[in-house]
Amino acid sequence: MKNALIITLAVFLLWSGYQTYRHPQLKFNALTDRISHPFDTRLRYRIAEVDPRFKLSLEQVKTITEQAAQIWTAGTGQDYFVYDPQARLAIHLIYDERQIESEQRREHLNQLESNQQRWLEKKQSLAQVEQQILQQRQLLSLKQQQLNLQIQHYQQEQQQAQQAAAPLANAVDLQQQQQALQQRITSFKQEIEQYNQKIQQLNQQVDELNVLDQQLNTSVDQYKQRFKPHLFHKGVFNGKQIMIYEFESEDDLRLTLAHELGHALGLSHADDPQALMYPVMKAQKKAHFRLTEADRYLLQTR
Ligand SMILES: [Zn+2]
Repeated sequence: MKNALIITLAVFLLWSGYQTYRHPQLKFNALTDRISHPFDTRLRYRIAEVDPRFKLSLEQVKTITEQAAQIWTAGTGQDYFVYDPQARLAIHLIYDERQIESEQRREHLNQLESNQQRWLEKKQSLAQVEQQILQQRQLLSLKQQQLNLQIQHYQQEQQQAQQAAAPLANAVDLQQQQQALQQRITSFKQEIEQYNQKIQQLNQQVDELNVLDQQLNTSVDQYKQRFKPHLFHKGVFNGKQIMIYEFESEDDLRLTLAHELGHALGLSHADDPQALMYPVMKAQKKAHFRLTEADRYLLQTR
């Protein structure tokens, strides 16, 4: 009886040693899980803690983690992970200065973007006004030419009338012409005045735009000064736990979780910036991410 037990134990140890060699992730499962599911090669995980300041429920994080695990399944055709509320591997979402920094950075960035948008709109409306002024100037110079011709014509008729001692009817006609001309000159002067006012308004708006431009530059400088690019660990896998400290969006969280799950599969980092296992989350396509060749290579050579 005793011998049988020893043999069983020896067989189990041999078997589990072989399995761990084939499936390195198994070493992060609890021994009791390995005994109760001897043929299951999936790594068991659970969500242990989600700080409420992340504004995500445990259930939501569970769904996002399942999607993260799905990235590995979709890219390899194999199931590597399974949710188990009793699992040894625990996922913690820990809220600290990293997430606070990240939130402040996004807030500043949103503010900057909306200021940039306002500046752009103002610049576009200025360009429109400039266009209008240009058209008005062309119109005015055309009117001026016409007016000059009319004045010349009037002056010629007046000279002729003086030389020829014209009849009274002609004198009346000339007077009417003069009055009409005078009216046109007056209204032309008004138009020029309006045109000049418009130019003044434009100059004022240009000044305003320049001030806005300076403010924008200053705030971009301040932003760069305040949020210097620096690397900190968004997530950490330590053998028993996956700690997540910072993410910008659910897509970012999903990818960060998938990256740490990759470490739990026994993978190191990849050199390809597009790869899930690249040490920095930046160049990866965050939505609908697919494993890269570099990720699959790590898995094949682990
Ligand atoms: Zn890593």
